[in-house]
Amino acid sequence: MSDLPDDFKCTITNWEYIYDLCRTVSTQVKRDDFEPDVVVALARGGWFAGRCICDFLGLNDLTSLKMEHYVGTAQKTGEPQVRYPMPEGSVEGKDVLIIDDIADTGGSIKRADEYVRERNAGEVRTATLQLLGTSDFDPDFVGERLDEWAWIVYPWNFIEDMIDLIAGVMERADQEAFSRAEIRRCLSEYHSVERIEMEIAQPNRLGEVLAEMERRDVIESEGGKWRLV
Ligand code: AMP
Repeated sequence: MSDLPDDFKCTITNWEYIYDLCRTVSTQVKRDDFEPDVVVALARGGWFAGRCICDFLGLNDLTSLKMEHYVGTAQKTGEPQVRYPMPEGSVEGKDVLIIDDIADTGGSIKRADEYVRERNAGEVRTATLQLLGTSDFDPDFVGERLDEWAWIVYPWNFIEDMIDLIAGVMERADQEAFSRAEIRRCLSEYHSVERIEMEIAQPNRLGEVLAEMERRDVIESEGGKWRLV
C-alpha cells in the first residue's frame, strides 16, 4: 500500500457476482464469433475466470502465465514481468483468449498480450472481468467498467487482502489494541468497507480472518482485543 494514500476505497465482492462477470465476458466472446483454441489465464487473479470461461465456451485447453507486479494489496513494484516461460506449444499457431481479473494500470494484460504475440500465436484477444479508468490498455472484452477507482477484494484472495487491510489500519490508527467493533470502524473510516456490505458479500468472515492473522503471527489477542505483534 506504499504508493497509495492512507484512505482508499475497497469493494468486497463474492463468488456469484464474479461468476456473473465471467458469464458476461463469455457472452461477448460468443457474440463476436471469436472461437479461441486456448485460454491463457494470468496467475493468480485470472485463474477462476479462466476456468469458468472455458466452461462457458466449451474449451478444454487452459494454460497459465504468471505475471509479477503486485506484492501485496495495492502494493506495486515496477513493471509487470512474466515470471516463468510458457511451455512450448502452449499458444503457437492457436487462437488465444488472455484473461485477467482486472486492468488497473493495464500493464499486466498488455505485457501478457505482447508475450503471447511474440510466440507466434494465431489470433490473440484480451479480456478482463473489470476495467478501471486508470488503465492504459483497453481489453477486447470487459465484464464491467468501473468509473471510480477502488481496490477490489476478490473472493479468491479475501483472507490475504483482509489481512493486509486490517494490519494496515491497525498500524495507522492511533491506538494499541482493537476490539472487533473498532476494527470495523477503521475499515469503514479508511477504506469505506461498511459492516453490512462486508456481511452481505462475505458473511461471518471477520472472526476467521482474525484467527488467521493470529495463526500467522500478525496479531495477538489480549482480553478480547487484538494488537499487532
Ligand atoms: P495492472 O497491471 O495494474 O493492470 O494490475 C495487475 C494485477 O494487480 C491485477 O491483475 C490484479 O490482480 C491486481 N490489481 C491491480 N489493481 C487492483 C485493484 N484495484 N483491485 C484489485 N486487484 C488489483
